[in-house]
Amino acid sequence: MPRYDFDLFTIGAGSGGVRASRFAAGFGARVAIAEERYLGGTCVNVGCIPKKLYSYASHVREEIHLAAGFGWSATHTGFDLAELVANKNREILRLNGIYRRMLEASGVKILEERATLVDAHTVEAGGKRYTAGHILVATGGWPVKPAIPGADLTITSNEAFFLDALPARVLVVGGGYIALEFASIFNGMGADSNLIYRGPNILRTFDREFGGMLADEMRKKGVTFTLNTDIRQSRAAATACAQPSRTARHSRPIAYSTRRAARRTRAISACKPPGSSSTQKAPLRSMLIRKPRCRRFTRSAT
Ligand SMILES: Cc1cc2nc3c(=O)[nH]c(=O)nc-3n(C[C@H](O)[C@H](O)[C@H](O)COP(=O)(O)OP(=O)(O)OC[C@H]3O[C@@H](n4cnc5c(N)ncnc54)[C@H](O)[C@@H]3O)c2cc1C
Repeated sequence: MPRYDFDLFTIGAGSGGVRASRFAAGFGARVAIAEERYLGGTCVNVGCIPKKLYSYASHVREEIHLAAGFGWSATHTGFDLAELVANKNREILRLNGIYRRMLEASGVKILEERATLVDAHTVEAGGKRYTAGHILVATGGWPVKPAIPGADLTITSNEAFFLDALPARVLVVGGGYIALEFASIFNGMGADSNLIYRGPNILRTFDREFGGMLADEMRKKGVTFTLNTDIRQSRAAATACAQPSRTARHSRPIAYSTRRAARRTRAISACKPPGSSSTQKAPLRSMLIRKPRCRRFTRSAT
């Protein structure tokens, strides 16, 4: 009789959790994985994959323009973001299915539940307790917005993948690769795209010359940069934050790609879900993770 229900219990079915679980199962371990939101995690659902689809979409306008020089008579008759969102959602559903089949084929038991740590060998998911020789916390990160007035009216990269219309103007906050990608994507799609960053150099953890060169190339394509400016001290940006609508054609959404914080597998202080007047309390469990967050994002748009 095995001492534990599973040899490995993984919390989080993102890139890390899925890979580790499949490998462990391949070596003969009895594995369970808990996922509270979507199989494939950030990369598949609100990260690399939709980002690449959006990036391809944003290049098409330029391609159409260039096509004429190569003898093609392509004409640009408009861009429908809602159509792209719908097609992207379909593709992601397909990928979710592939992740499910990969896990099942490896013999990994999937629990579509939020899991919380009880102790070093016990996890609670869906009202049941499971024991495991090893528990892997692979809960990923979540975008964080700075606390400035109007921040609740802004969006993060998560929501950017579910906008139902292309905004006329966008201000992207941040200087990392995700911020730059979104500034390029919105610009390529036809929005007036602006980026604000508190430091002097974008992509500061990359090669210095590379960041400068990339900024020059992006400027040539129409993205404007405001560097050395902290959104928390910028009156103009803060005022723009107070614009009520994020999706109307002439709105000015502000997208935050500032940083991501670790997710908690234990208590979250009282969070107010959007559109709700009540507060929800997550169960208190036993693990220290850096930063509390309120889960504002749901996939209801899919
Ligand atoms: C916009 C964007 C673009 C990106 N582009 C690229 C790229 O081009 N190339 C690249 O290499 N990387 C890219 N990344 C980064 C990449 O997505 C992440 O590095 C990767 O997803 C991290 O994987 P992970 O398994 O650590 O976490 P995640 O993929 O975030 O997975 C964690 C999972 O845990 C689940 N979870 C959390 N808490 C619990 C709980 N208590 N119980 C159950 N489940 C829980 C979450 O729902 C989630 O599915 C991008 C990220 C973003 C946001």
